[in-house]
Amino acid sequence: MFTAINRRSLGQFATLWRFQSTLVRAEHHNNQLTPITLNAITAARKVGGEVTCLEAGTNCAMVAEPISKVQGVKKILVAQHDCYKGLLPEELTPLILATQKQFNFTHICAGAYAFGKNLLPRMSAKLDVATLSDITEVKSQDTFVRTIYADNALATVKCNEKVKVFTVRGTSFEPAAVAGGRAATEQVASPSPAGMSEWLEQSLTKSYRPELTSAKVVVSGGRGLKSGENFKLLYDLADKMGAAVGASRAAVDAGYVPNDMQVGQTGKIVVPDPYIAVGISGAIPHLAGMKDSKVQLTVTRVIVINKDPEAPIFQVADYGLVEDLFKVSLSMMTRLDIVILKV
Ligand SMILES: Cc1cc2nc3c(=O)[nH]c(=O)nc-3n(C[C@H](O)[C@H](O)[C@H](O)COP(=O)(O)OP(=O)(O)OC[C@H]3O[C@@H](n4cnc5c(N)ncnc54)[C@H](O)[C@@H]3O)c2cc1C
Repeated sequence: MFTAINRRSLGQFATLWRFQSTLVRAEHHNNQLTPITLNAITAARKVGGEVTCLEAGTNCAMVAEPISKVQGVKKILVAQHDCYKGLLPEELTPLILATQKQFNFTHICAGAYAFGKNLLPRMSAKLDVATLSDITEVKSQDTFVRTIYADNALATVKCNEKVKVFTVRGTSFEPAAVAGGRAATEQVASPSPAGMSEWLEQSLTKSYRPELTSAKVVVSGGRGLKSGENFKLLYDLADKMGAAVGASRAAVDAGYVPNDMQVGQTGKIVVPDPYIAVGISGAIPHLAGMKDSKVQLTVTRVIVINKDPEAPIFQVADYGLVEDLFKVSLSMMTRLDIVILKV
């Protein structure tokens, strides 16, 4: 009896698995795959069934190569057209809908970056289903975990939609290895351009420092820095350590640094080891971007410099220095990396 039940449930599982098929929207800069795509593929593989990637762009054929090597990816659909310049959701949505009509995927996902967050809700609305945003775990083909209340609680959500659409928090899933796979590439026709919006230009901050969301070490500054010029202290420290530089929203709002440096609930999620917070109080929305290492592959150690011993950030700190940041000499700050190596 016991064996029979097990066999039946195994059979049901295998049937369910066989009928799952996930479309991962590949994110790229035409000639380069954006790392979060590999995290999204890992999440898609956890759903079970076949994984297909869709890459659309103006001249993006070479991005298919690394994806084709990812184990578990069956097929890559490539759509190239001038209307995908700037990857506007108004143009990409009809393409995904046409692809969905042809292949009937059970799941559609993308990384929870600005790009995926921009695209998937529009597409969900057109499919008349809800989007599950920023999932951190796949429990089964219809059950996912995501954070709520600025990352202070985890919600396990069962999704009954006919097509399950979700964005994936990159830092919660290991990047899929670019090895061992042999996915086939298929060109897909692009629907006629929607022509509702036009991509004009983008100005990107040029930085030789590591990208914030994938940096192994992050030094962040807050309102306590008092000016943009004083961020030089952190840039010097970061350059000594090969670190990225982040900031609190208060520092961004005050105009000290550009907003792509913001860490937190409405900024970027980072998972470095360590995270060095200087002149940051540790408000909940900031902590949401750097403290949650429960599901991470590495555990983030937090090092804090703040003159107020009561600052909430000390509650999540592994190492704290109660000191005026302007009195902490650069030589002392740069020695932090020696300290970090020792801990
Ligand atoms: C919907 C919403 C979303 C938000 N999203 C984000 C987000 O994504 N990221 C984010 O960061 N915030 C976010 N916030 C804002 C957040 O609530 C806080 O206001 C912000 O994080 C505070 O930034 P801060 O710690 O730099 O500034 P403050 O809270 O003003 O703290 C400055 C700290 O610097 C210390 N300090 C001052 N001078 C010195 C010195 N000389 N030496 C050492 N220490 C010193 C002080 O003791 C203090 O602890 C959000 C808020 C809302 C409402």
